[in-house]
Amino acid sequence: MKLLSNVMEQVVKRNPNEPEFHQAVREVLESLEPVAERHPEWVKAGIFERIVEPERQIVFRVPWLDDKGNVQVNRGYRIQFNSAIGPYKGGLRLHPSVNFSILKFLGFEQILKNSLTSLPIGGAKGGSDFDPKGKSDNEVMKFCQSFMTELCKHIGPDTDVPAGDIGTGGREIGYMYGQYKRLRNEFTGVLTGKGLTWGGSLARTEATGYGLCYFMDEAIQAKGKSFKGATVVISGSGNVAIYATEKVNQLGGKVVALSDSNGYIYDAEGIKLDTVKRLKEVERKRISEYVKFHPSAKYTEGCSGIWNIKCDIALPCATQNEINEISAKTLVANGCFAVGEGANMPSTPEAIDVFLKNNVVFGPAKAANAGGVATSALEMCQNSARYSWTFEEVDAKLKNIMVNIYKNASAAAKEYGFGDNLVAGANIAGFLKVADAMYAQGIAY
Ligand code: NDP
Repeated sequence: MKLLSNVMEQVVKRNPNEPEFHQAVREVLESLEPVAERHPEWVKAGIFERIVEPERQIVFRVPWLDDKGNVQVNRGYRIQFNSAIGPYKGGLRLHPSVNFSILKFLGFEQILKNSLTSLPIGGAKGGSDFDPKGKSDNEVMKFCQSFMTELCKHIGPDTDVPAGDIGTGGREIGYMYGQYKRLRNEFTGVLTGKGLTWGGSLARTEATGYGLCYFMDEAIQAKGKSFKGATVVISGSGNVAIYATEKVNQLGGKVVALSDSNGYIYDAEGIKLDTVKRLKEVERKRISEYVKFHPSAKYTEGCSGIWNIKCDIALPCATQNEINEISAKTLVANGCFAVGEGANMPSTPEAIDVFLKNNVVFGPAKAANAGGVATSALEMCQNSARYSWTFEEVDAKLKNIMVNIYKNASAAAKEYGFGDNLVAGANIAGFLKVADAMYAQGIAY
């Protein structure tokens, strides 16, 4: 890193103890060095220094009453990172691990991801250290209402449009939307991931998992491979993992493993998705329960062992840094030829090096999982128009977007001397549009 090394130094200095944020920024800046060389006007205008600093960071107290009548206090966040190309857009994560580092890494990645979709949306992320796991519906509702009571002052359909993420599914979006509507007395598209009877888009639930498979299908076809007959390992068993499994099955592959934060299941016959959907989407149970219904499957406690399972394609769809260097080497040694990131930043930088050095087709998160936010933007379009498209219409648009993201990332990688490296290609393709918009809008911005 030459031109941009001072930018990275400043990020570390200004944001101490935020390792995930540093990791995300470092990876991007490394890819942008040739862009900086080609655009001295962007260097002069401080585009690189500005894009790594959030436009606004909101932190607030979230008090709520639990079922026993005790006061609980959580911390709420919204990082409004960049609005150069559209209103802030990004999910709300509800998980005990939520802190500034995690939300800033996610918000920063979101800027480039949203740009890659080719739709007019800026980058943001938010959430809370609240853990919905083990809470009653009533407690989740109380939390969501308190959270939205403050958040509603900072968002709006043309300002900032949050969505779901880990721990924030249809139930949570419903409670938050109800509270927003009550406080503001308006029925607008202020959140995405809404229910189908109140402004949600068909195919939004499926979008991230389906989009991941559309992207990876395009990438592996370029290498003469396909999902047909492939053995696939997927981590997680949440929204992204479930619909990635569904699409892999439709494309002729076989998913043999899924996990949650306690452990993983292996079913050599192929995972029975109906059972997983019932356990996870309806009954909110642990993945270990799967073996009660399919005794030939095996459950193993602990998550990382899932990457020791022999597979052709791996789709990490759980959380950040879940594949380290050792797991990456094991995947390669077992013949895995493609890795597509459904989760955000699931591979460590060392793991990515292993994949790239071994010519594994590697789909980085900001490109490969952009289908969710792309379809959220399609939900915003439908809300603004007070109209709705059919499942097939949305799915066709999603597929088209994912294929174009692959093409743009692949072309940018080649143009800037990174060969087949889609990590660099996605960073560059996403950045060019945002940088151009920031430059055009002047320095006060
Ligand atoms: P969900 O909450 O629906 O599911 C998350 C899954 O990952 C669960 O199976 C969960 O297990 C598991 N998990 C969470 N934390 C950990 C951990 N620390 N170790 C191991 N497993 C863990 O979330 P989503 O499916 O929506 O999100 C998954 C990933 O995809 C996240 O990185 C998210 O940012 C990303 N993403 C999601 C999008 C979307 O549209 N939903 C869009 C783009 C990216 P458990 O139930 O035990 O917690």
